[in-house]
Amino acid sequence: MSAHSHILGRRSQSVWTPSLIELLSERPTTHHIMADSAAAPAADGEEPKISKRAAEKAAKKLAAKAKKETFQAEQPKKPTGNQPVDPNASFKQGWLRGVYNEKPTSEVHTRFPPEPNGFLHIGHAKAITVNFGFARAYGGICNLRFDDTNPAKEEEKYFTSIQDMIHWLGFHPHTITYSSDNFDKLYELAEEMIKKDKAYMCYCSPAEVLARRGGKRGEGGARTVCEHWSQPTDKSLEEFRAMRDGKYAQGEAHLRMKMFLGTKPEEYEIEEGDSPEVKRVKAKLKGSADNPAMWDVAAYRIKKENYHHRTGNKWRIYPTYEFTHCICDSLEGITHSLCTVEFETLRPAYNWLLEQIEHKMEGSEEKGPMQREYGRLNVEGTILSKRRIQMLVQGCTVESKPAAAAPENAGPSEAVKEMNLEEEGEEDPEEEQVPTTVSGGRKIPPVVRDWDDPRLFTLVAIRRRGVPPGALKKFVLDLGVTKAVADTKLHMLDATIRTYLERTVPRLMLVLDPIKVIIENLPDDYLEERDVPFDPKDVEKGTHKIPFTKVIYIDRDDFREVDDPDFFRLAPGKSVGLLHATHPLRAKSFTKDSSGKVNEIVAEYGEHLPAGKARIHWVGESKAHDSPLKAEARIFNPLFQNPRPNELDWKAGGYYDNINPDSEVIYPNTMIECGFEEIRKRAPWPKEEGEAEGDTGNYSVRFQGLRTAFFCLDKDATADKIVLNRIVSLKEDTGKK
Ligand SMILES: [Zn+2]
Repeated sequence: MSAHSHILGRRSQSVWTPSLIELLSERPTTHHIMADSAAAPAADGEEPKISKRAAEKAAKKLAAKAKKETFQAEQPKKPTGNQPVDPNASFKQGWLRGVYNEKPTSEVHTRFPPEPNGFLHIGHAKAITVNFGFARAYGGICNLRFDDTNPAKEEEKYFTSIQDMIHWLGFHPHTITYSSDNFDKLYELAEEMIKKDKAYMCYCSPAEVLARRGGKRGEGGARTVCEHWSQPTDKSLEEFRAMRDGKYAQGEAHLRMKMFLGTKPEEYEIEEGDSPEVKRVKAKLKGSADNPAMWDVAAYRIKKENYHHRTGNKWRIYPTYEFTHCICDSLEGITHSLCTVEFETLRPAYNWLLEQIEHKMEGSEEKGPMQREYGRLNVEGTILSKRRIQMLVQGCTVESKPAAAAPENAGPSEAVKEMNLEEEGEEDPEEEQVPTTVSGGRKIPPVVRDWDDPRLFTLVAIRRRGVPPGALKKFVLDLGVTKAVADTKLHMLDATIRTYLERTVPRLMLVLDPIKVIIENLPDDYLEERDVPFDPKDVEKGTHKIPFTKVIYIDRDDFREVDDPDFFRLAPGKSVGLLHATHPLRAKSFTKDSSGKVNEIVAEYGEHLPAGKARIHWVGESKAHDSPLKAEARIFNPLFQNPRPNELDWKAGGYYDNINPDSEVIYPNTMIECGFEEIRKRAPWPKEEGEAEGDTGNYSVRFQGLRTAFFCLDKDATADKIVLNRIVSLKEDTGKK
């Protein structure tokens, strides 16, 4: 194929670009040239007067350049040093830019609204980053709102932990609010809704409510309203007050919004002769009538366990998510209410309620909050369900057959329950209860230490494992924020963390599983003190001194009892280079302990030895340097053998049989060089996000163990005992041993 036909074939793509035109001619470029004259740039006597040969040559040059760029783009990104990056850039483009452009207010106000009934997980990292980041990018503010309308499940530790995590990620709520701050106002609005005949008291059982909604997933009969739908508003008001004052028990009554359950098909069937305006209205009505979120969902229900941490015993009735969320958004002055796509079908209900209470104008985003939905973060292999994590943390007793479904509370629509109200990223299958004390059932012990076990994907666990907050945010933003679900895999998360740590943390030598090496040809008091940089690519990290002495320790993996021509490290009679040392090392002999493990190698050192093909890491023994430091290192691997553990049997305990026996491998005799103490003192590594503002803990003591892995100090470490977590390996684990 000639270069010319190459141009023809691709002219509308990357080759025939404005830059090519510029290369060919000094004349200003026009779209006309780009679009039409590529095939014959010299024709017509009109546009660029250049030879065909010059055009071909230039095109070739550009094609080569484009190819190179494509190649480079496909390569894993190399660390690029500490170039300043606009932290707001991701929010000023793409889908998020579009959301802003829909409502380009000068006072952007967002919120992050978790329920304070559990620990945040990796999915929430996206919700936090999107809401806080969006506000910051457009000069606005973001509130942290505790959506505390379910008194039974709330605990102080969750409130604290949620705030900690937001701060650790480098964000600062403008104000911390509570849905419960608005309980009086919400109640008032509920009465207003009744008076407007937009809400009614209903005494139907959950089964009756479901049946009248057309059964589960529409498999029942026709949708109909119950007899309570048409009771007089003053009767509803009286009974609502009675419900507030304790007349009914949980499940006996609830307040429902009068939405579109009562809409009959003839009201929206389009007839011949309907004007375009009537057609539009009918189409909108049909949309609402067909949306389960609009089938008269509950506004208030009774809670038997009614003690609330902020309002005490004041209320027996509590507002639902559907009633609370949009109103709180509006009362707080939220301009952009960003949530995940699971909430998209709830958007009409969100707007409908705000319109009824005149906090919003129909069909307009000018007044009141604007809800928009992005795809949630979905990382394959992560267990995010609170109940499942609880089973892993506490253990459980399971029945041999699945437990009976728990009775439902009257109220929230099926659609809402199916998508789960736990706001972000939750995958709890409906009605799956933590099996607890079932007599004769199978007892399953706890699998992990706690909610912050580094094998979990709660944010506390991710932090404990040593993942820097900046890496987590980068992971979220690199996947992009759009309407599509950001589906990814764990190795992608690890890759982001690895690249991030590569350029931000110091390096040390650490020997996971040490073997003592006695260097025979050195005097007992031999000492070479080496000045070693913490990061050869970044002088600013400084240097530290390490001792090279007669006794050093190397990693068991770096030694073989029997040499092999394909093995380039230490073996009897074979030389190997030593990182940060002058000369090679050669093994002469070795001894084994009673269990048959090599426990000591006798070696020689010096320039007379042949240089080895590889260089290995080591740690020298020197009392004066307090070297080596001893540590316990914990290496983490996936908790389950199945890469999709959510598909396991969680009801009858099958999940337990799939636990990866190597999910945590402990090296109790790990040795670290003495530079570690300085690293520990100078933490956080890196100094960024919340950690730059003093939000530090052992997790911020991070380093790269040369040739081994990235590590951080675990919270189990004490002044006397170093405990390390492997954050990630240095290279992607291909599964080969
Ligand atoms: Zn009813």
